[in-house]
Amino acid sequence: MDHQEKIAVVVGAGIAGASVCFALKKRNIRTILIDSDTGPAKHASGNPIGVVYPFLTKHKTSESEFSLAAFQFFLSIWRNYHLEKLVPHADGIYFLMDTKEVYDRYANAILSHQILDQTAKESTEPFSDSPALFFPEGKSISPADLTKQILALSDPITKYSCKLLSWVEEENKSKVLCQTSEGEIECDYLFLTQGYQFADDPHLEWLPLRKVRGQILKIPEQKPTNTYGILYGDYLTAAIGGYQVLGATFDEFKLEEEPRPEESESMWKELLNRLPNLSAEWVPQNPRLFPTRVSYRTQSQDRHPIVGKLPNISKLDLSIKYQNLLRNSDKKMNIPYYESVGILNGLGSRGLTHALYSAEILVSSMLEETSPIPETTFKSLKPDRFLIRMWKRDQLT
Ligand SMILES: Cc1cc2nc3c(=O)[nH]c(=O)nc-3n(C[C@H](O)[C@H](O)[C@H](O)COP(=O)(O)OP(=O)(O)OC[C@H]3O[C@@H](n4cnc5c(N)ncnc54)[C@H](O)[C@@H]3O)c2cc1C
Repeated sequence: MDHQEKIAVVVGAGIAGASVCFALKKRNIRTILIDSDTGPAKHASGNPIGVVYPFLTKHKTSESEFSLAAFQFFLSIWRNYHLEKLVPHADGIYFLMDTKEVYDRYANAILSHQILDQTAKESTEPFSDSPALFFPEGKSISPADLTKQILALSDPITKYSCKLLSWVEEENKSKVLCQTSEGEIECDYLFLTQGYQFADDPHLEWLPLRKVRGQILKIPEQKPTNTYGILYGDYLTAAIGGYQVLGATFDEFKLEEEPRPEESESMWKELLNRLPNLSAEWVPQNPRLFPTRVSYRTQSQDRHPIVGKLPNISKLDLSIKYQNLLRNSDKKMNIPYYESVGILNGLGSRGLTHALYSAEILVSSMLEETSPIPETTFKSLKPDRFLIRMWKRDQLT
């Protein structure tokens, strides 16, 4: 299909927005990327180093299948666009399986998902002597550089220090009018990728998304050092540019921006405790003095991303109640949509692995192309799932 005359606006220059720009570029759609901050990757996507690896469950679930496919998609872009030459990184992630429950889950995941050795294999992590899953192509990576390189490949028109204030889908024109701090923009497609600032957009108020605080420590490269990332609940990345990252805390209740020295200390103690062979020869240090960074994830109620066309709940027919429909009747909900507005949010703690694939799914669905994923997996990503859940529980008033 020729989309050359179409214009898309993408709101948010984090990894989600950059990934949407990339999917649009593949289809030759003119794209304007706006961000209220002064440049890309200033928020969740701006941590110095993060880890890329897939999420697995004991048995196949929509979540694990999506995550594995997303990881493979990430790797295909990584190779095809030679990102290994452009994005600072270190290959290899060990995921410790040092309790019976964790071992049971992940060892079985390898079998149930028929995962090949080149993706993940059972191994022993040398610094803990613990059984581990090793992801040879998993990565410690600079999220900010990844975001910037994806943007460089996508080459959108960028408007920084430009905030989306409001938007409206124009009746019968299938155009969207965006009101920004820098004036109006009319577009054919609007993609909402605002991360944790979703709450400023009244069209998204109903979505069960939460802002979750996370704190990381940037520590000078330790000697001896681990040349790969190690995950043990927290994670210690490999060193990039003379630093390693120890992350990340998770607090959905208290959200202050100031670093918490006590969190730095407890993460550090846990690291020394979990990786004794690695840390035994390190010079004693005061973790409260390491630089820290606080940023915010956006987490959905079921911890799965939100990807798809945005339902228009102001047009919902609330007179049809799920509870009142006959048991055998076709209990389907008629969902009205904003036809030209898509959302990619709720990337939680795995945005680096999941964003590119999520954006590909989103853009292909908005353009009514054949879906790259099975319908059941797509259903588990669509914003619709929350609406249907609320309808069934009679929570829509
Ligand atoms: C401490 C921490 C550690 C993490 N570690 C990892 C990890 O190791 N591996 C991993 O895969 N993931 C990790 N994550 C998760 C990952 O960082 C996120 O999932 C991802 O960065 C989210 O990207 P995003 O683009 O959705 O949001 P963001 O990066 O927050 O981007 C949203 C952008 O939207 C802009 N914006 C918002 N509202 C507006 C508006 N109205 N107008 C214009 N612009 C607007 C903002 O300025 C911002 O630039 C971590 C997250 C945290 C918090």
